[in-house]
Amino acid sequence: MSDDAGLQALREAARLSPDNLPLRQHLAGQLLAKGYLAEAEAEFRAVLVLAPKHPDIIAGLAEAFVRQSAHGPALAALEPLLAEPGYPPRLGILAARALMGEGDMGRAAYRYFEAISRDASLADPDLAGRLTPGGPGSPWPPPAAAPPPIPATPANSSTAEVERSGVTFADVAGMETVKEALRIKLLLPLQQPELYAAYGKRAGGGVLLYGPPGAGKTHLARAAAGELGAAFVNVGLADILDMYVGSSERNLHATFDLARRNRPCVLFFDEVDALAGRRSDMRHAQTRQLVNQFLAELDGVDQSANEGVLVLAATNVPWYVDAAFRRPGRLDQPVFVPPPDAAARAAILRILCRDKPLAEMDFDAVARVTEHFVGADLKGLVDRAVEAKLQQSISAGRPIPLSTQDLLAAAQTLRPTAVREWMATARNYVLHANDSGAWDELMPWVKGKW
Ligand code: ADP
Repeated sequence: MSDDAGLQALREAARLSPDNLPLRQHLAGQLLAKGYLAEAEAEFRAVLVLAPKHPDIIAGLAEAFVRQSAHGPALAALEPLLAEPGYPPRLGILAARALMGEGDMGRAAYRYFEAISRDASLADPDLAGRLTPGGPGSPWPPPAAAPPPIPATPANSSTAEVERSGVTFADVAGMETVKEALRIKLLLPLQQPELYAAYGKRAGGGVLLYGPPGAGKTHLARAAAGELGAAFVNVGLADILDMYVGSSERNLHATFDLARRNRPCVLFFDEVDALAGRRSDMRHAQTRQLVNQFLAELDGVDQSANEGVLVLAATNVPWYVDAAFRRPGRLDQPVFVPPPDAAARAAILRILCRDKPLAEMDFDAVARVTEHFVGADLKGLVDRAVEAKLQQSISAGRPIPLSTQDLLAAAQTLRPTAVREWMATARNYVLHANDSGAWDELMPWVKGKW
């Protein structure tokens, strides 16, 4: 029987038994494998009605979309599952392909690296190359003035850079509780070492900042470095993760060494869940090895190894971080970075607008209509209003100051990003997987109205 005759027989059988889920799923899979993409899409859609939220069917549908370059529909199909804890990593790879198709390289890289940190067998060197700035086949633009290449030797392969932070806590609006927690944990021990020594405490260790995306975790970390007059090293996943065995561990070690050579230094790991995931979730020794290396670096070879190195790490999914990171001296203090309330939103808007030509402003009015907006959303709002104002100023031939009305108009055109979904996921963990009490701090938040 030829391929197509086989398919024809399957189609006929499915037509006669429209409720036979395994049969129809098999047909959809065969259609996809043989490249009948539109028909595969239609069949997967029909099967999804029989088994809503089935991850294999959603994966099939999303693949049919991606292969037809329908990236938006692929993401729409995947998103409900991606919002759930412990979703199958291969869905993350499909999301990475779709996001890359939409040109959203940052989120694509995040999804890809998170997926392979949970299942290394999904690694795809071609995709990884295209997601790493400057990698083979990468569509990312090269840096404007490319620095001379530094040969990557095993002893020094960190691509992270040392910055001097220009912002302090004065640039972080609201978040008084979070700032206070960071002051006690990070700043006071360095500013008043004698007092701490008297109580047998050392400066060092780290803080895990967690909360919805865009709520200001990176901004806070940078401000903590500025507040302290410390160097700031901002480590992204691409600085560490490498597909070759042993290289990621070497990169991680080199990054810690960079911070140790520049102490006092705030070493900031964004999206740390991809480097510090739960080892029980990992099927591959290689990814577990990276987590072990990270724990070893935090502990240091001796008492003074990490003196003056303050590790801040951020994650949107703290429940994926291995519990071993919460032991004393490691990322022992989880700090929740909440979405801003109305007063904090007004304060964030004031900071974001402070160097712009302004009319009389009523930031409270804007704060009232931007419920569920986080800092990153508010930044997007101000950027949009400023762009519109620039256009008007160019037409008028004179600078026209930004007004409350401009911000209100921009707010109308934007939707808050991810807070509601984030709270729904957090609620699952807080209510159903909070044995150790690790997420007690979130309890009043997830019980609120979102
Ligand atoms: P996260 O790391 O949590 O995803 P970011 O720190 O990247 O979020 O926040 C995005 C942007 O939002 C920041 O660059 C900053 O301009 C703005 N922002 C967020 N929170 C605040 C705040 N409390 N005060 C002032 N600006 C803020």
